[in-house]
Amino acid sequence: MVARAARATDLADLDGAVSNCFACPRLVSWREEVARTKRAAFREQHYWGRPVPGFGTPDARIGILGLAPAAHGGNRTGRIFTGDRSGDVLFAALHRAGLANQPTSVAADDGLTLRDTRIFAAVRCAPPDNKPTPAERDTCAPWLHREVGLIRPTLRVVVALGAFAWAAWWPVLRDVYGVRPPSPRPAFGHGAHWSGTAAPELLGCYHVSQQNTFTGRLTPLMLDDVFARAKQLAGVD
Ligand code: SF4
Repeated sequence: MVARAARATDLADLDGAVSNCFACPRLVSWREEVARTKRAAFREQHYWGRPVPGFGTPDARIGILGLAPAAHGGNRTGRIFTGDRSGDVLFAALHRAGLANQPTSVAADDGLTLRDTRIFAAVRCAPPDNKPTPAERDTCAPWLHREVGLIRPTLRVVVALGAFAWAAWWPVLRDVYGVRPPSPRPAFGHGAHWSGTAAPELLGCYHVSQQNTFTGRLTPLMLDDVFARAKQLAGVD
């Protein structure tokens, strides 16, 4: 799997290859079981039930790093942050920031396009309880690392959604940029900012999960501030 990720010549090749990954037995079993049993509201739909590739422009200056696909969101629709409440919040914010052509993301063929932005997850398969294990994160890392490697020429800023994504970023520095990660690692927080030489700036943002958005821990205004900062750092108008 590591070798297959490293061999990917472009994003289309990478997206196709990751979609056929079976490296994590627990996650393969879960993603397929969810796709079989379905949620009642989506009973008539065909679930994707496979790893979910990144989404966005190949010349992105802004990367958005999430945790993993949602069982009935990305795992259903086949597109990251698509078809669930987290995506509703995220894409509404990207639309307000001028980084998405529409504020909604409901299906892989809904016409959504991004500008200067690519979204990817630290783990590409939906995990039970949204909680991948550290071993699953490490197993999946080569897909993330290759994706960042492919957009490295333009990538200037990465927004890490939540502490898991924030932690998943540090090995990218070593593997993709040949940069030693800072020690100790900077703590995750909403609005946290790490800046190093020869690597993208890193911004922390609370995850757009319902747990955060329904409770007001993460508000639309807070998201607007993060994406305004990301655009400024990336030189996006
Ligand atoms: S989580 Fe990543 S490494 Fe594991 S099966 Fe899915 S795509 Fe493969």
